[in-house]
Amino acid sequence: MNLTAPPAIEAVGLVKRFGDSVAVDGVSLTVPTGTVYGVLGPNGAGKTTTVRMLATLLRPDAGQARIFGHDVVRESTAVRSLVGVTGQYASVDEDLSATENLVIFSRLLGLSRTEAKRKATELLEEFDLVEAASKPLKNFSGGMRRRLDLAASLISHPPLLFLDEPTTGLDPRTRAQMWETIRRLVAEGSTVLLTTQYLDEADQLADRIAVIDRGKVIADGTADELKASVGVSSLQLKLVDKTRVDQTRSLLVESLGVEVAITPEAGRLTAPMTDPSVTPELLIRLREHGIDVDEITVSKPSLDEVFLTITGHGADESDSTAAESDTERSVA
Ligand code: ATP
Repeated sequence: MNLTAPPAIEAVGLVKRFGDSVAVDGVSLTVPTGTVYGVLGPNGAGKTTTVRMLATLLRPDAGQARIFGHDVVRESTAVRSLVGVTGQYASVDEDLSATENLVIFSRLLGLSRTEAKRKATELLEEFDLVEAASKPLKNFSGGMRRRLDLAASLISHPPLLFLDEPTTGLDPRTRAQMWETIRRLVAEGSTVLLTTQYLDEADQLADRIAVIDRGKVIADGTADELKASVGVSSLQLKLVDKTRVDQTRSLLVESLGVEVAITPEAGRLTAPMTDPSVTPELLIRLREHGIDVDEITVSKPSLDEVFLTITGHGADESDSTAAESDTERSVA
């Protein structure tokens, strides 16, 4: 990485309002060139709006953003030549084939007829769409559409790619393929900003992650830093007798001095631990009270638990059920 070059993305205090509602409420982030940055948040958190401002598709109401040093408002033409965005090709012609669609996009980007055909063939091979190349798009599965969408965003070979929820709704196999493609693009030198609702996706792909909730960045850091912010490790217990969860919780709270989350129907308890070496004593204590443990794991907390701890609600819960929180936390 060239340390003197400007970062791929540098955004400070971005704001976007729609009527009375504030979709993005002062988002700042820095993405070094050659890395994958994950923007993680639930539905309606402001991820797409942030991407659209960074990609010059939407004008910020306040704040500034630079892409490789170019201002997204004042130098939007320069910025556009440096970025690719997935999701903006939704209006492709359903009756045309994958090849025809890619050729049209290539021509729109200024490639000659021969170059456009060569580019379309190359991308269809790269994205494993050769067999489907001549089929009309209306016969494409969701996974094939996502791959074609990503292929189309690569025609101009942009150094920065915005992938807006690239795997939402895909089956696990297609999702894994998409992850491989993203890893390959980064290995070849691309910088990627990826939005996702999936904690494991951010964990797997991103060098750094910003957790965004109701338009604000509420935490940022590497996956490990975010996990460490919750505690050194996480204790998970499954009881043989599910009716004893409440009593077990009281014992854990007493022994560990921490909040303990329970899933009563599954007979599961989850607690943060600062010192995993107390686990054997804890088990002896439970045994003394006649509580049998079916399963026990002590592991690094998952990003799911991180999200729960930071926001006070799960990654898949809507705003209305969530507790208010205006705290900004940096764990970096
Ligand atoms: P999702 O995962 O559902 O796409 P997101 O994190 O990408 O969510 P945004 O699409 O950025 O969230 O939306 C943030 C908020 O702004 C939401 O409350 C949404 O309803 C609102 N919003 C987004 N675009 C518009 C628009 N063009 N007009 C009015 N409100 C909008």
